[in-house]
This record gives sequence, C-alpha cells and structure tokens, in this order.
Amino acid sequence: MREKLPKAVFKNLKKTIDEGLPLDPSIADVVAAAMKEWAVERGATHFTHWFQPMTGITAEKHDAFLSPTESGALLEFSGKELVKGEPDASSFPSGGLRATFEARGYTAWDCTSPAFLREEADVITLCIPTAFCSYTGEALDKKVPLLRSMEALSTQAVRVLKLFGNNDVTRVTSTVGAEQEYFLVDKSFYLQRPDLMMAGRTLFGAMSSKGQELEDHYFGSIKERVLSYMKEVNEELWKLGVTAKTQHNEVAPGQFEIAPIFENTNIATDHNQMVMDVLKRVALRHDMVCLLHEKPFAGVNGSGKHNNWSMSSNDGQNLLEPGHTPHDNAQFLTFLMATIKAVDTYAGLLRCSCANAGNDHRLGANEAPPAIISVFLGEQLADIIDQIVKGVAKSSSMSGHMDIGVSTLPALPKDATDRNRTSPFAFTGNKFEFRMLGSSFSISGPNIIINTIIAQALKEIADALENSTNFDADLDKLLQEIAKKHQRIIFNGNNYSDEWVQEAAKRGLPNIPSTPDALKELVSKEAVEVFAAHNVFNEKEVHARYEIMVEQYVKTLNIEALTMIDMANHSIIPTAIEYATTVASSINAVTAVSSKLDVSTQKELLEELSDKLAAMSANTKALEKALEDALNIADAEKQAAAFRANVFTKMGELRATGDALEKIIAAKYWPLPTYREMLFVL
Ligand code: ADP
Ligand code: MG
Repeated sequence: MREKLPKAVFKNLKKTIDEGLPLDPSIADVVAAAMKEWAVERGATHFTHWFQPMTGITAEKHDAFLSPTESGALLEFSGKELVKGEPDASSFPSGGLRATFEARGYTAWDCTSPAFLREEADVITLCIPTAFCSYTGEALDKKVPLLRSMEALSTQAVRVLKLFGNNDVTRVTSTVGAEQEYFLVDKSFYLQRPDLMMAGRTLFGAMSSKGQELEDHYFGSIKERVLSYMKEVNEELWKLGVTAKTQHNEVAPGQFEIAPIFENTNIATDHNQMVMDVLKRVALRHDMVCLLHEKPFAGVNGSGKHNNWSMSSNDGQNLLEPGHTPHDNAQFLTFLMATIKAVDTYAGLLRCSCANAGNDHRLGANEAPPAIISVFLGEQLADIIDQIVKGVAKSSSMSGHMDIGVSTLPALPKDATDRNRTSPFAFTGNKFEFRMLGSSFSISGPNIIINTIIAQALKEIADALENSTNFDADLDKLLQEIAKKHQRIIFNGNNYSDEWVQEAAKRGLPNIPSTPDALKELVSKEAVEVFAAHNVFNEKEVHARYEIMVEQYVKTLNIEALTMIDMANHSIIPTAIEYATTVASSINAVTAVSSKLDVSTQKELLEELSDKLAAMSANTKALEKALEDALNIADAEKQAAAFRANVFTKMGELRATGDALEKIIAAKYWPLPTYREMLFVL
C-alpha cells in the first residue's frame, strides 16, 4: 500500500485500519486502482470477494478484471467493485434471516484484513477479505460478528485502562495464535474409503496392533515425505502473508501440527482459514490427503485447535502480561479477574462454542479437555487469588509483598505457569490458551464468544469503579468479590481424571457432553442478553445461528449414517458372504477328498462368520430404522436429540460388528484399506 498509494490516501486508509474509523468512500477508487495494478503486475486475471458464510468455511466467486470495450478490452476494477459485491449467494444457510426471494447477500470490503493473491493451477486471483450481510444489515457470516465483538472488547477494555491512568490508549485488540492439528493419509487409501471421502473420518476400521502407545511419533523426527510437504505448506503460507512458524509430529501416528505467530483476531481468523485451505491443497500435490476432522481414527488421538488469546492496547501493552511495578500488577490482576469472571459466568456458552458432531468424539475422551470448562492459573497465581479471597495476607507464598493497587506482586516466571496440558482454559504466562476447539472449526465462533463475555466482565468492572473516589480500596474490594464468587472455576489438577468430574459437579460447574445440549446454551436468556448488550448479535441473528448449527449436526450424522449403511450393504456384507462361501467350498472340497480330514478350523470360522454376518445385517437394518424414524421428526431440536440418542448409538453398534468381521476375514478379501495402512504408510 505504501508503495502504490498516494501518500495522503495511504495515511487515510492506515488511520481507518489502525483506529477502526469508518472507511472514507472517496478513496475507494484510488485504492481499487492500486490494488488492481499490484495484482495484475503479478499475473492476476481475476478478483474475488473472499468471505465466510455460516458454513464455517470460506466462499468465493471469481470475476475477471477484463471488460470488453468498443475497440477491444480493458482491465478494470472500480472502487465500487472493491467496496461492495452482490453475489447471488442464495444457497448459503441463513437460518431464516433471508428468504430465497430476497436472497441477495451483500459483501463489503474488510480493509482491516490484508487482501492477498492466491495462485493455484496457474491461475492467480486477487482475494479481498469481505464481510457478508443481508439487505437489512443482518450478519450472514462469521466475520461481521467477530469484528463487532472486537469492537465491544476494545470499548470496555479502554474504559478499564483509563481507570489505571492509561489516558492515551484509544484501542485494544484481541490477539490470537491458533495451533492447528491435522492428519495426513496416502491418497490411494483415501480414494478407497467411502467414509473418509464422504464423512472425513473412518466409520469402520479395526484398530491396528500398534497405535500411539509407544509415544514414538510425538515430536519424533519428521519423515521426508511429510517434511517436503511441510516445506511447501510454509512457502505457500509465507507468500500469503501467514506467519507459519512451528511444526511437529503430534501424538497419533499420521498426525501433525502447525502454528503461526499470533495476530489480531480478525486477521488470525482469516489466516487460519487460509492455513486449512493450504494444508488440504498442498497435500494433494504430494499424493496425500489432509484430514481436518476432529476424530478421523477411533483408538488414537483426534485433532483439535488451541486458541491462544490475549489483548493488546495500541500503546503496546499485552494486558495479560504480569508487570514489573505494583501499578502494572493491579492492572494485570484486574484483566485476569475479568477473564475468570467471564469464563465462570458464561462457561456454558464457551462449551457451546466448541460443539460439533466431530468434537463430540474428543471432549471428555481422555485426549482432549473434558466437556467441563475450568481455568488453570498455576500455583503462584492461584495462591494469590486465594489470598485475595481471604483478604488478609498480602504476600505471595513465593516471594515479595503484595497489596493490590499500591504494592508489589512477585515477578511471575512465564514457564512456571504452564505445566498443565489437560486444562481447557489455561493461563500460559501472558495469554490464555483455550484448548477445546475442534480442528475443523472456524476460530471465529469461539473468539466471538470470548471477546463478548470478557467485554461484559470489563464493563461491569468499569461501571463499578468509574466514579470511585477511593480507587485503591474500591478495587481491592471488587477484586475480592469477584475472586470469592468465581474461584470455583479455577482448577489446577488433572482435568482428565474422574475425581474432577465429581468435584466439578460439587462446585456446580456445567458438564455438557453432547452437541445438541451444548448448542442450547447459545439461545439461553443470558447469552441472548449479553450478545445484544454489546451489539454482537441481535436476537434474530442468534437464533439463526442456533438453527444452522442444529441443522448442521443433523446433516452430519445423516451423512455418516447413510455412508455406513452404504459401506455395510455394498462392501462389508458382500465381502463376508463371499468369504463365507469360499470357506464353505473348502469344507466341501476337503471332505470330498476324504471324510477323515479335519475341517474343524473351517467349520469354526464359518460359524463365526455366519454369526457376525447375521449381526452385521441386523445392525444395518436397525440403523436404517433409527435413521428413518429420526428423519421423520419435524421439530429440529427433537430431531437432533433423536440423532444423538438413537442414530449415533446404532452407528456405534454397527461399527462394532463391522470391525469384528474385519478381524476374521482374510486380508486379500477385505475391501477397505486398514488402519495399519492409513496410519503408518506415509
Ligand atoms: P504450545 O504448543 O506450548 O501450546 P506454541 O508455541 O506451539 O505453544 O503456540 C503458542 C501460540 O501462542 C503461538 O501461535 C504464539 O504466537 C501464540 N501467542 C503468543 N503470545 C500471544 C499473545 N499475546 N496473544 C495471542 N497468542 C499468542
Ligand atoms: Mg498449545
């Protein structure tokens, strides 16, 4: 921008980006011309408004710069085209926000997220990050509410910062670094697995003799094929301006992780979408397929996404960084306590933000945090909170003397705070790490909720203290109140243990294991109120999202069930019959030679095959019936509950019989690539 734009226009645009001011429409034409020039110089032929409908992935419609004229053709891109687009877009889910007859959705340029060029198959496209909303201004995407939530957080955080004398701060942005886990499988196996192709996860598959128990994959030396894939992924991402930094083998065989350097939440969200896209595209070039499903393989770990979150002010402070002076520490503790208050008050909403059919296989399954939200602070900070609650001792157990507001908190060594990998919401020195997200998620949803609920907590703090005449004393008192009320959410122990499940119940913390139940939190009275209070969602927008998510859950399970039935009827059952016939023929052939020959092995096998085959067939029919019944339920919420209670259960039973058959059928008859091949051949 600095290179291509006239100085005044550059300054104007930069101010809009940095200070969140409305875009000056008069500069649009100039910016569009510069963007086009930049893009065309680099070989771009098309542009697209790149947006994020409520499907959780991205959408684009490409237009050529080329416009015919009387004498030939021109490469054109006007300010109008940059600022606003009108994709027809009537087929995106809108949750009733938009009837098809008034289907026009509008895309609006988000100048705060950098435009980028994408090159694939020799086509270079200028991608312009955009918001997507309806004719009446309702958000139809995952960007608009995210931007609104960032605005809300900024407003309230600035109010609190002013209480501590930061009068020059005008903006606070939330920052995010999203660690992304994924699996790679050889493409030839993928193409032979209808379940991977249709559902993104294996719906059948007996566990291989070895899994992850030797812990030899985690952080192990990276195979050459994978390393050359990672190299290309990094190069693609760096070209796109995504700061991919860390990569390693994850716990399960065939599982890996990539992490970028953190950025402002809006850009981090766009960039995470680009990371997922690049991971998938580049895998194909290496004859592999990248699986972003939360649980592609039963019996080994699934994939999540760690959302590292903090707030930074436009004078460069990380608001979750413990400071060096007593004054800094009081401010740090205030933001820390606001976070704790928010997480405890809206635990159900946070849980809801991580609910989907895929993640139901992880949360609470000893590989990911349980479905119970708690906060890990580390010993030292937890001790300080303890003392605030007691309101007596003003010193830390580790060192120094503390009196919030006026005196000092010991310097907290960063690495002393994060030795707990089981916590869903862990303080890690200068940020919180929300670890419940599934690997396929847009990180927008969880961050909309984090930003909004913390904005609310900060608002209450600012409301209480803004007119205080004795700030230090009132702050002490307020923090003590918050600590007393919300200390129950703090847990430093092992979140994977059964004791914690009991203990959490005693503390009254919600434990919501399934998606249909978790989603209801989105439309609770408290949730609707807090979204409205901060102009993040109006009531209609919340309900639209709820409707879409319930629908997505049902559709996902429907696809999985149909795929299972298909695999059972078209491949597993016929294979079992074929093999049983071979075994029966063997019995006949061998006894024809001599009735004295021992055919007990064949007979035993045939019996087992026949039993399991009958069970397989019965379970397939049972699933078909459960599916049919569930599909006949008109009420969406009841339908989702039936999918969870019946269809999901029957799928588990059918899988068990399929996997039992896999274990006794000769390898050369088995029609599907095995776990051994999918997990270990790379
Ligand atoms: P680990 O594997 O130990 O959880 P990583 O180093 O892989 O941690 O990832 C940590 C992530 O946190 C990185 O993406 C990093 O950029 C991000 N991060 C660091 N500081 C902040 C911050 N202030 N706000 C948001 N994210 C941050
Ligand atoms: Mg992490």
